[in-house]
Amino acid sequence: MDGSATPQSFEPTRNAALDRLRVFAPKAGGDYARLRNYDLGPGRHVHVSTLSPYLRHRLLTEDEVLRTVLARHSPQAAEKFIQEVFWRSYWKGWLEMRPAVWTAYREGLAAALNRSRVEAGLRQRWSDACNGQTGIDGFDHWAHELIQTGYLHNHARMWFASIWVFTLGLPWELGADFFLRHLHDGDPASNTLGWRWVAGLQTRGKTYLARPDNIARYTERRFHPAGLAPAAPPLDGPDHPQRRPAPVSPPWTASRRSGLLLHEDDLSPAYLFETGLAPVSQIRLQTTSARSPLAVSPQVTAFVSAALEDAATRWRDRSGEDAGHHDQVDAIADWARASRLEQIVTPYAPVGPTAEALDKLDAALAPHGIALIRPLRPYDERAWPHATHGFFRFKDQIPSLLSAMGL
Ligand SMILES: Cc1cc2nc3c(=O)[nH]c(=O)nc-3n(C[C@H](O)[C@H](O)[C@H](O)COP(=O)(O)OP(=O)(O)OC[C@H]3O[C@@H](n4cnc5c(N)ncnc54)[C@H](O)[C@@H]3O)c2cc1C
Repeated sequence: MDGSATPQSFEPTRNAALDRLRVFAPKAGGDYARLRNYDLGPGRHVHVSTLSPYLRHRLLTEDEVLRTVLARHSPQAAEKFIQEVFWRSYWKGWLEMRPAVWTAYREGLAAALNRSRVEAGLRQRWSDACNGQTGIDGFDHWAHELIQTGYLHNHARMWFASIWVFTLGLPWELGADFFLRHLHDGDPASNTLGWRWVAGLQTRGKTYLARPDNIARYTERRFHPAGLAPAAPPLDGPDHPQRRPAPVSPPWTASRRSGLLLHEDDLSPAYLFETGLAPVSQIRLQTTSARSPLAVSPQVTAFVSAALEDAATRWRDRSGEDAGHHDQVDAIADWARASRLEQIVTPYAPVGPTAEALDKLDAALAPHGIALIRPLRPYDERAWPHATHGFFRFKDQIPSLLSAMGL
């Protein structure tokens, strides 16, 4: 890594997220539209917000980011930035309606890991790619930057994924897993579908080719790799699965004896308290280790762990007794029984490890007559059903989604 740069660091608190938003907001208009594609390297990602670790875990919500930006810029001036924020919502909605794509990714990853155990050549090439030892200018730097800082610029993610798939010929699932283990914003929807998009599996037949001149231009000539694949033929894959309906919020009543469960997919439970929820107790569930069958970076685990504690502390006065931080659903089921809860209320978790853990918890609670209530955030409930086709169709809904938020 370039020794002159300071590594990007992410303090796992809502206050740090708010500070970052305050500093970035003035740049979310014309500056972002002109300069967002430049990747200037670690410690110099000044043209983008670097808010994704906070948005991913919702220490800060999309709603808050959009409101802050639109308080300073017109929707036209901030159009590009607003669209990017809605890409996250689009990917989440798309996967929510097609959970089989997440299951297929996990199966593809297991198959690729099995291959790596028997094919020494594959194992070596995969290890060289993850350790930044391919000799490809730029690529090796991004592998180190990812491991050291937990963040990569969007353009670097695209170049890296494209080189991984088309130049190195490695299974895309191993690359997606490498990202999920090291990104502070590692996200089942944005990551899986981002990799699929690069590989030509998402928008069928459309791939992303990393070109040396484009890399040189947008890294201000820090890198100019040689020997990149000259073409990006789309990978083969099954058709998209049939869509299931987007989820809707369940009917529920805040007056029952409730426990609050906080998890890493949504650490802003204010919308639950607005219903009159008054929990007798609060507990945290951490599922970071389930992002990958391999070991998740300790930095990422520590970030999420501290983010959960930050949220718990912020809501402590309204959450009843503190029942601690756990990574097993059995401990949560025991707590629910011991606290004589009628229901556990928790923010809806989209497709991914947390949703899988909550499904398990639901099954463990059912015999005891304890309900697991997962209300959707109105922002998600309005946006997700529009992720039926490509982003260009979804994008047409942005003005009405903003207007439903009073923006
Ligand atoms: C192969 C690949 C893998 C990716 N994996 C992840 C991931 O695991 N987690 C993740 O959060 N994002 C992922 N992205 C999307 C995107 O690269 C990051 O969200 C973005 O780089 C975060 O940096 P930022 O906050 O500075 O973005 P900004 O440019 O400041 O954008 C503002 C916000 O908009 C959203 N956003 C911007 N671009 C995208 C996008 N392409 N897709 C979805 N949301 C977007 C993010 O919430 C981001 O914080 C991936 C993209 C690719 C191509």
